Amino acid sequence: MGEDMDVIKVEEGEMLEIEIEEDLLKANEQLANANRKIFDKHGVKVIDVMGSIGSGKTSILEKLVGKLKEKYRIAVIAGDVTTTIDADRIKRHGVRTIQINTGNECHLDALMIRRAIKRLNLDELDIVFIENVGNLICPADFPLGSHRRIVVVSVTEGPYMIRKHPMIIKGADIVVINKIDLAEAMEVDVNQLIKDAKEINPKAEVVCTNAKSGEGIDNLIKALQL
Ligand code: MG
Ligand code: ZN
Repeated sequence: MGEDMDVIKVEEGEMLEIEIEEDLLKANEQLANANRKIFDKHGVKVIDVMGSIGSGKTSILEKLVGKLKEKYRIAVIAGDVTTTIDADRIKRHGVRTIQINTGNECHLDALMIRRAIKRLNLDELDIVFIENVGNLICPADFPLGSHRRIVVVSVTEGPYMIRKHPMIIKGADIVVINKIDLAEAMEVDVNQLIKDAKEINPKAEVVCTNAKSGEGIDNLIKALQL
């Protein structure tokens, strides 16, 4: 970076309607805490899966559901702006699936989850997976009440995907690096991605997967303590 580089850093208070946003985030957090209480009361473990469009969230969920559905009673809440593509894929595995179409919103919020869980009989469930809207920015700011948050990045997103999204990595319990079979073709160093994740969030577990073949899914199940 040369000295001619002009960089504008947006400071807190310089963004429009910052107060409205803070109220919104606070309201979301309160609702997320309430959601968590509901889940705990019914003994349901809830796992929020975040990641960009195309990172492999749905493929990973399909593999998880396939391996876990004999042992646990599972439901999946799938968030998407307009389509039901992901929910349709998961439904084929014979588990209860709810689609949330967010319209203009690029993330799920705790109120949407509250509405979705009203349609589920939580007493008849052990695990609820939530597939968040494909986006690595704002889902970080909107906890949903889940017990664990997974962030999925794929090597096809390039070598800087993790370093460029520190906020969501910081909030993750597990970082999944997917499509590792394509690392060589993409000239992406998986070990560097692991290092980046550990540097940003030393507490996060990092799991490498190839969701197509199923490689690494057992490690992810172990990381989830399921
Ligand atoms: Mg998906
Ligand atoms: Zn958003």
